Amino acid sequence: MTNTEDTIVALATPSGTGAIGVIRLSGPEAITIAQKVWKGKDLTKQASHTLHLGRIADGDVLIDEVVASLFIAPKSYTRENVVEISCHGSAYIIESIIKLLIKKGARAAQAGEFTLRAFLNGQLDLSQAEAVADLIASNSKASQQVALQQLRGGFSSQLKTLRDQLVQFASLIELELDFAEEDVEFANRDQLKQLILTITRIIGNLIQSFELGNAIKNGVNTVIAGRPNAGKSTLLNALLNEERAIVSHIPGTTRDTIEEVLNINGINFRLIDTAGIREATDTIEQIGVQRTMEKISQSALLLYLFDAEQTTQEELNNDLQRLQKPGVSILVIANKADLLSEQQLNALPSVDNMIVISAKENQHIDGLKNKIYHSAVKDQLSGNETLITNIRHLEALQKTEEALTRVLNGMQDVTSDFLAMDIKQALHYLGEITGAVTTDDLLENIFSKFCIGK
Ligand code: GDP
Repeated sequence: MTNTEDTIVALATPSGTGAIGVIRLSGPEAITIAQKVWKGKDLTKQASHTLHLGRIADGDVLIDEVVASLFIAPKSYTRENVVEISCHGSAYIIESIIKLLIKKGARAAQAGEFTLRAFLNGQLDLSQAEAVADLIASNSKASQQVALQQLRGGFSSQLKTLRDQLVQFASLIELELDFAEEDVEFANRDQLKQLILTITRIIGNLIQSFELGNAIKNGVNTVIAGRPNAGKSTLLNALLNEERAIVSHIPGTTRDTIEEVLNINGINFRLIDTAGIREATDTIEQIGVQRTMEKISQSALLLYLFDAEQTTQEELNNDLQRLQKPGVSILVIANKADLLSEQQLNALPSVDNMIVISAKENQHIDGLKNKIYHSAVKDQLSGNETLITNIRHLEALQKTEEALTRVLNGMQDVTSDFLAMDIKQALHYLGEITGAVTTDDLLENIFSKFCIGK
């Protein structure tokens, strides 16, 4: 897959019928291969970044009238010669042109191969290449912004600087090894310690940012749970502002789970309405209750709703005790406030982090949304913070942190060779993020998740 000698071709736009389809050719022969099927000006004699109207023909058989865009190496996405052919978006035409280009010497590109070439040719580092995939997959303003920031090199340049500094120390310590008998210290231990503390702090912040970064990229799994008739379906509708879930008077009717996406300030909360959590009497309901508990364990946020008119403090405490799961934050919502007098409202059972609403009358739904949002976004987002969103980066950062902790701990008593080994490990994991260190397996793993044509 890492062979870049040949010229690759693929459809860059979605397959299926569209107004136009864009076929991309990249590689040393991109322009000469295009010229072989081209009727119009000689493409091999044109300047970079120019557009040309012409026709694609297989011998005498005309296939389509198209526009070709030329990008001459290294001024292209892949840093190779690139021709983009915009043809009419018929699946038949697209297939015919691609087949023809393959007949004339191009090879069908594999998934992610254009972006892989951009990486191999130094146009992007690895985390930027991954950001391309994230940008293509982004489905909200926040996820698009984070991907864009990563694409622009935000945190990889920061890591690169730190890594370069660490490399210097590594080489000084290596040098000490060469003079082992003479007991010299080229690498100033205090400076090394300071650098490692700095790196560890920055890495620690990046690791912490994953929770939010992941919420932005993948959304926040949010479960709505409570006893039957507490108003869960009504709340779901109020949050979504639409009549979606089925609202009924018969306890236990929302037996299965329903999933909807609520976007608050650019973050997607995936809302899962669940079967009621009362002690189930029949087996179907029991399955529902079990599923509710499973759903809660898999989520990051639980909206626990209770009927403020019907529920005692004891029942509330019992429910909350049952529903508590490690790693899941709970927002407690007292519903049906519209049925209560002021006096009753003042005497409500109370717990931490509680909000009083009326789902049916749409009271305090905005306040609730605000609380939901801030359960994921603890501090105000400025739009400039560095967030990591990729589990691969998280793991590499954690391993870097472990290796650096070993360096710090060992600095007093271990010999230079062990110190050098741990620093090398840290360098290795840091390098894996930006692609300074790669293996074919790693590349295969990352780029195979891309679509063909990317
Ligand atoms: P679920 O079983 O928890 O999903 O509860 P539903 O959403 O089906 O609601 C049960 C009943 O309570 C329905 O008759 C709703 O109209 C009613 N209800 C829900 N929320 C409110 C509210 O805020 N105020 C009042 N008065 N009734 C509500």
